[in-house]
Amino acid sequence: MLRTETVHFRKTNKNTVVKRVHEVYLRKDIPCLSTLCPWSPPCHARVKVESSLLSEETPYYLIPDYSVALRYVELLEQEELTNIIFTETILQRLQSEDKSRTYKSLRQVAKDPRRRSVVFSNEHCEGATVLREPEESIEQRDWRALLKTADWYHQHLQGRVPIIMLSEQFGQKNLREEQLKAGVRVMSLKEYLNEFWKDNAVLHELLGSLKEAILEEDLEMQNKGGIATKKGSGSTGFQEYKPLSELEAGVKSERFFQGVMKVRANHRDQAFIRGDGNIGEIVIVGSEHRNRAVHGDMVVVELLNKSSWVAPSTHISYDPEEIHAAGDEEDESSNTHRFKEIKPTGRVVGVISRNWQPYVATLQEGSEKDSGSFHLVLPLNPVIPKIRIRHHDAKVLANQRIVVRIDSWPIHSQYPNGHYVRSIGPAHELDTEISAILIEHGISVSQTTQGFSEGSLKEMPINTPEHPWRPDPAELKARRDLRNLTIFSIDPPNCQDIDDAISIRDIGNGQVEFGVHIADVSHFVHENSLTDLEARARGTTVYLSDRRFDMLPKVLSEQLCSLRHHVDRYAMSVMWTMDAEANVLTTWFGRSVIRSACEMEYEQAQGLLNGKDVVPGLDAALCKKLKPSVVLLAKTMRKIRAKRMMNGGLELESSEVKFKFKEEDGGISDILPKQPLEVHQIIEEAMVMANGYVAKKIYDGFRESAMLRHHPLPIDSHFKMLRKAAESRGFSIETSSNLALAASLRDCAAKSQDDIEFVRLLKTMATMAMSEASYISSGSKPVNEYTHYGLALDFYTHFTSPIRRYADLVVHRQLMSCISGTSPQPSLNAATVVDGSVHLSSTTTASSSDLLKNGLKMEQVASHLNYKNRESKLAQKDSTELFQTLYILQKTRNSSSGPKDGSKDAGKEGADDDESEIPFVETGIVSEIRENGFFVFVPRFGIKGPVYLKEKSGEITIPLSVLEIPGVATGAKTSLKPSPWTTVSGCEMETDQMTEITVKIPLQSAASALPEHRLGSLRSKVQFRLFDKVKVALRLKKSLAHRHSIYMTLMGLDEESTQRPASASPVGLNPRIFSSKGKSLVQMKKDQVKKIAENDPALAPLSEQQLIQGITAGQEKAQQLQKEADLQKAAEAEETAGSKGFGKKKRGRNASLEPIDPYQQTPLDVSFYRLLDTFDRLRIVESSQTIE
Ligand SMILES: [Zn+2]
Repeated sequence: MLRTETVHFRKTNKNTVVKRVHEVYLRKDIPCLSTLCPWSPPCHARVKVESSLLSEETPYYLIPDYSVALRYVELLEQEELTNIIFTETILQRLQSEDKSRTYKSLRQVAKDPRRRSVVFSNEHCEGATVLREPEESIEQRDWRALLKTADWYHQHLQGRVPIIMLSEQFGQKNLREEQLKAGVRVMSLKEYLNEFWKDNAVLHELLGSLKEAILEEDLEMQNKGGIATKKGSGSTGFQEYKPLSELEAGVKSERFFQGVMKVRANHRDQAFIRGDGNIGEIVIVGSEHRNRAVHGDMVVVELLNKSSWVAPSTHISYDPEEIHAAGDEEDESSNTHRFKEIKPTGRVVGVISRNWQPYVATLQEGSEKDSGSFHLVLPLNPVIPKIRIRHHDAKVLANQRIVVRIDSWPIHSQYPNGHYVRSIGPAHELDTEISAILIEHGISVSQTTQGFSEGSLKEMPINTPEHPWRPDPAELKARRDLRNLTIFSIDPPNCQDIDDAISIRDIGNGQVEFGVHIADVSHFVHENSLTDLEARARGTTVYLSDRRFDMLPKVLSEQLCSLRHHVDRYAMSVMWTMDAEANVLTTWFGRSVIRSACEMEYEQAQGLLNGKDVVPGLDAALCKKLKPSVVLLAKTMRKIRAKRMMNGGLELESSEVKFKFKEEDGGISDILPKQPLEVHQIIEEAMVMANGYVAKKIYDGFRESAMLRHHPLPIDSHFKMLRKAAESRGFSIETSSNLALAASLRDCAAKSQDDIEFVRLLKTMATMAMSEASYISSGSKPVNEYTHYGLALDFYTHFTSPIRRYADLVVHRQLMSCISGTSPQPSLNAATVVDGSVHLSSTTTASSSDLLKNGLKMEQVASHLNYKNRESKLAQKDSTELFQTLYILQKTRNSSSGPKDGSKDAGKEGADDDESEIPFVETGIVSEIRENGFFVFVPRFGIKGPVYLKEKSGEITIPLSVLEIPGVATGAKTSLKPSPWTTVSGCEMETDQMTEITVKIPLQSAASALPEHRLGSLRSKVQFRLFDKVKVALRLKKSLAHRHSIYMTLMGLDEESTQRPASASPVGLNPRIFSSKGKSLVQMKKDQVKKIAENDPALAPLSEQQLIQGITAGQEKAQQLQKEADLQKAAEAEETAGSKGFGKKKRGRNASLEPIDPYQQTPLDVSFYRLLDTFDRLRIVESSQTIE
């Protein structure tokens, strides 16, 4: 082994240069990582290779030099370029020069199995490394190192493939004679593209754009000399960043605060970081204080003087493109400012790391007419600032969605500099917008090919009509044969990827044998195979409204793994025997072979459950066979579910919708809310049960590295909004535990049967207030923190959908390892017992794979999957919104005005034209009240949008249609029917925190809009309260640069809910009211139990005794909390009365005797703004979040 030294010069942040000497031990066994390796076995056979190998099916291998790697990384990222050898020389130099983003990008390319690219350790390879000669520059030395690497490959592979070196700095003339002979070529990127990618416009365009960006950067550097000497930044107001050492010291001494800067989507002028410890959230207002930081960057913030602190805005913002003036110009006459809570406010003094992504953007309108070559583009995501790009021909970019990247943000520049990467198509065309969604959420799947690499497809088993796949007889012997059982699946119609199937039968003595059978994906996808790496990278199948992007190739996802009927399929099964009360007696886990009798649809199963003997789509004999199973399944799962509910399991709502597409033109024919059927719950319960049991099982086998699913306890203050909302309707919601929450939500539901929308919204609010569920590695938390709050289980994981979730595949491997006895010995340091199951003992020696038992690696995979999951849900939500806007566009477009061209062109013609717009009126429910209006949720379409009462100009208007009192004679018939959009202006408005908003109408204003004789039929005051029903017209705010957004205009009131006198408070379940009625508490409870059981089928299987116990527990807690809250309120009330008194009305009552309206007694609501932010944050995930 040879030893050598390499010397690096590293620039520190103080601009001093440090010399670093590395001792390097040269080795002879550095592998070539090529499938062309002539050795037998190949030289890389001894090492574990986690990426793919250089391919044999390629005309050349590429070796980029530093000039290419540093500045043309995006070109190297293009998927057309494969078989790239990244040398250690280049990577080390990137690292030593602090180019960590570039470094990571190159690493990423090498990791991607589709790219067939590798990192070659040339600096450690005897025969490939070179020493720096005296007087030689680093560039020269590194270039020689690359040449040597090319020589090495040429020799090692015996010239089987030509080597092309890519360089913008060196050329063919820099080669030695023998290299020329050996066929090594040096090409510039331009030469390379011209020769090999002549017709690929995207690559050529990208190269051009990168060259322009570099040119500009170089100019920038030249100019900098003059400007940098000046302190500060001239007109931009930006400040120089403080040196890293000062930032670090500042953070340590808590003079500065570090965090990820997020820009509030609804108020782009405001950003915030969540600082550590006591400080909590820090607000950053305005571009100047943001000091060139971009949404997502890790920044360091210095607090401003307290006198400059501000409160976050509580307005609904008017326009995604608007930039608010700094600070809030509050209308002093409104009483809203009393709710303002001043927050720590700061400015960015340094950026620790950038989180710049590829952004989808649109050229600023009109910019294509400018003659210069610099243009501003508006990112689709409104939290990203405008970006300045250089393009020689902006006309071709007009109205296109393009991908851009940010390169730098110089101190004297108002906008960051970036460059154009590529076009993805005309704005507002469906395919363009879908591509945009995929890019914005980092889903790198090409829409057309689905992008599975050839290598991964080669790993797939063959299943063609000529050569159908058949189970292997040896494999069949090794599996439990369940083909004699009646097994069936229940899914939505046309489900192709069937993950799960079920069997259930009566085995006598009142006992039941129940089985959940899951596609055995791990049989087909081996750990670290190309397919596995690809699936891990994707993390999950992505479902958009009209298409999906699979995690696995179709031959697996739709054929061999999918548990289709009438064919033999491998499965992973969990089988239980249970007694008549659904107590589990035994549990069996293992591999099986099954043959499904039927792919049932939810509706069909529900039909059988409802007692039908035949259901559409299934023949009578099959129905006869399946019906007893479905009925027994329902009976059993109801019991299991009821038990879980009594333990605090929550039944929550999602506002999921489905789109029905027209066949002719792809337009949307309808939006359908998901119809809740009992069968959904039953299947869900079966899956929850299997997931729970498997979680405990793999935890027993892998104490430090089990892949678990965790739903953390919610932060109680996040529930404040929910509690207030419920209180405004006279209910008390209790959030001390999931049990208490479940009980009080059930109570609300039972008492509000006539208002299912109220209940639904309340449940949605509860979901929003909770944390998100996530994957964890068991070693990362103590065992008592594994709890799944929403499902009320101590252990939970994902096991039941391995075709579409990678986590499940990992769990399958861990489970197999546990039951085949190859898992590591369970450690003895933690002891938790889950009752009711018999587990096979796991005795073992360590031979399972590295990932499965490596807690740290498992944690990395878990966090990657959490990220992928979240992005895929957000993409799903974006696509839902996209189709919702298309639907509204279709519905509101007046076909008689102007040329129309179907849904594909989503309203490019621009400006709203009230007259030609057809009102699209629906009933909605007021779901959030803000200072200038409120949000309305339209359950029919799952759409939520703002209703503005106060215009951007500050004027308060109300539609005339809202003011007319129905049933009041309007006197003489008038032929003058006002337009539906007519409004009365000059109103006054009063907002009472978050639950009501009152608009007073001056008669003279109304008079100008209506003939006098009709004035008598007008209201003089309208009040809107949370949960009121209103009629709204759904409308679109059109935009070129952004997606169209939905807003609403009031069209009328739902009479029943608004005629309720404001002073009357509905009778609710306030415990105090409850106990004052004179009935005995026991009798009350019995009545209540009866009612709850009647109203809630989920609880019906429980005995009265069990119910009373559950409810009593909940209520005792409720009363206890209420007492505490009362004391607190009383104290606060006294304090308020003693000081100046914010209270709107001072009441001369003793606070401890009377129920108190909490809004009027706690004017300074400390956590209120946190709530608003929570809402902003949660609105992102609202329609897509499931806590499961
Ligand atoms: Zn080799």
